[in-house]
Amino acid sequence: MNAFAAPVVHWFEQHGRKDFPWQEDPTPYRVWISEIMLQQTQVATVIPYYQRFMESFPDVEVLATAELDDVLHHWSGLGYYARARNLHKTAIILRDDHNGDFPQAIDDVEALPGIGRSTAGAILALSRGQRHPILDANVKRVLARYFVVEGWPGKTSVARKLWGLAEENTPSDNVAAYTQAMMDLGATVCTRTRPDCGNCPLSSRCTAHAMGRETRYPGKKPKKEKPRRSTHMILVRREESIYLERRPPAGIWGGLYSFPELRCVSDVERWCERVFGSAPNRISECKVMSHSFTHFDLDIYPLEVDVDVSRVSDSDQVLWYAPRSSRQVGLAAPVQVLIDQLVSR
Ligand code: SF4
Repeated sequence: MNAFAAPVVHWFEQHGRKDFPWQEDPTPYRVWISEIMLQQTQVATVIPYYQRFMESFPDVEVLATAELDDVLHHWSGLGYYARARNLHKTAIILRDDHNGDFPQAIDDVEALPGIGRSTAGAILALSRGQRHPILDANVKRVLARYFVVEGWPGKTSVARKLWGLAEENTPSDNVAAYTQAMMDLGATVCTRTRPDCGNCPLSSRCTAHAMGRETRYPGKKPKKEKPRRSTHMILVRREESIYLERRPPAGIWGGLYSFPELRCVSDVERWCERVFGSAPNRISECKVMSHSFTHFDLDIYPLEVDVDVSRVSDSDQVLWYAPRSSRQVGLAAPVQVLIDQLVSR
């Protein structure tokens, strides 16, 4: 083990986090689910989601045979729903083409939907002790600081450099401990804004620390103004039920159920006539909500519409959703908030 990896593993033995639910029995399946959930999401948020997911889908077979709606329901509120759709797709591939288990070769793991190079490496390293480098955001930060790698890691040349360093420094033995240690070190010590260099096992050789310029690394993404979009969500009730439509399978909130959306209030009348065959009796504006996506911010203008709904019942695309009694479906966080507001009135 080299001068980089050895203190990292030693630190892990004393300070690393070893009691996460996915560490209890680190099979490839359990590690995979945790790795996907942990992408873009904090550990504290992930834990209850992970536990519920494992109770409902304890193995590949159960996940592969589950309804996608049920999987999305377990993901409701976690965001980045493509992750859940890919989990489901991958489970089906594992069941049908790989006897329900993960392939041994990293190239085959990387070929599965939603699994990139770093996640494939983490799955095989943590569950099978295979030597593969990983490069998630935490590891990028530690390496960029220790070796003072200039530039934004999203740039191909910078990423290539970081992958080279990750590869060089991954040890042949104790790779599972090293992999977990690097993720933990980035998450708990070498943090984005306030690295705790005094308690870092790498501080005596870390170049950014020696220069006193820790937070300069890794380089920031060139700034681009986030666009702001707006939409009108149409809230229609039928006694205890709320009218929802299934969104197309790809794109934002793909496959989840949501309120119909219109560009402007003046479209409501035509929409009601098309969908329900009658004009609205009343349209009331509700409080505006904002929601932030990675690439844009969305202002949601909810409109509660009173209309004769007797002609429309459930179909493949339409669900009259009764929060207490309907089947479980995936709902994006702001949609859930609006439903809660509607039913609490
Ligand atoms: S010494 Fe500081 S900057 Fe360097 S790796 Fe450790 S925490 Fe990060």
